[in-house]
Amino acid sequence: MDITVAYFHSLFHPDLVRRDFEQIRAAGASSIVYSIQDEERRYWPRDLERGLLLAQDVGLKVYLSPGQHGNLFATPSPAPSWYTFHHPESRVLDHHGRYHDLTCFNHEPFRRWFFQEIAFYLNAYPINGILLDEPHYGEITCFCSVCRALCPDVTDLAGFRRRSWVTFLGDLCAHVKGIDKHVRTAIVLPSYDASLVEDLVLLPDLDMLGLHLRRPSRPSPSETATAGSVEPDRCEREIVDLARQHQKRSLLWLQNFDLDEEGQQELPRFFQLAQQAEPDEVACYYYWRNNSDPEGVWQLTRQLLRSIPRRQLHWQTGKHFAVPRLGEE
Ligand SMILES: [Zn+2]
Repeated sequence: MDITVAYFHSLFHPDLVRRDFEQIRAAGASSIVYSIQDEERRYWPRDLERGLLLAQDVGLKVYLSPGQHGNLFATPSPAPSWYTFHHPESRVLDHHGRYHDLTCFNHEPFRRWFFQEIAFYLNAYPINGILLDEPHYGEITCFCSVCRALCPDVTDLAGFRRRSWVTFLGDLCAHVKGIDKHVRTAIVLPSYDASLVEDLVLLPDLDMLGLHLRRPSRPSPSETATAGSVEPDRCEREIVDLARQHQKRSLLWLQNFDLDEEGQQELPRFFQLAQQAEPDEVACYYYWRNNSDPEGVWQLTRQLLRSIPRRQLHWQTGKHFAVPRLGEE
């Protein structure tokens, strides 16, 4: 089982970044997720390059997560998408004629811009994977002129929206593979959506499907009686099994943030549920926000990660491949 750690911190102070990356590597991680918002790269390209090279230096691979970008993906920062702000005409329009704060992914100029951004990142920086974190289209049926033109049957617009969303994600993965077939493509869902999962596992250019794990409900008295044999939630097992059936990798993401004392105590049980589902990869956060005991949560996370048996990495060899330095730890 590989370990991925989300690093949603500033890259401005190289010594601190290196120290953090070394800690992450020592915890057994083979890769990090770094999230970037639209337009951000224009402000600190040197920090971005240096930061990602530092990750490579300590033997960590990098998944780049495009945050916001049309307000279609999760982001560590609550700031809205610059693209949507500057292109209000691209926004989703509902059947009442109201605009919503996200770009309609069917707009050709948006697709062109977004795909060019991804190409830029892959060509300019040492990136091993593109991770689409919590992609969503607002669950709103769009009645904009583009969607109406692409789907003249108004009664089919809701179905069209869903189908074109899956096509959009598939096209994005194909675009990444077209630039460099060794770059891994990943989609991580905020919650389990059986029909969406069934569609996504069929995308030929998607390598990995993941799920953010919500805090498990408290064990019932009968479960407590058989402590030690807690069954993983069905959705965790299902996503792992479905991914495997379709020759894709799976990832389960531990929510080690926003924890009060009780949440922190539940973390090991939560981790156990993830482990029992046997995903290819387990993810978590490095010192992420709003924990009542930040240091305690990271130390506990490290302890849990260390219980995962380590083994050699099996990323495909590519132009950005760095030989893992497991023996040097
Ligand atoms: Zn639309």
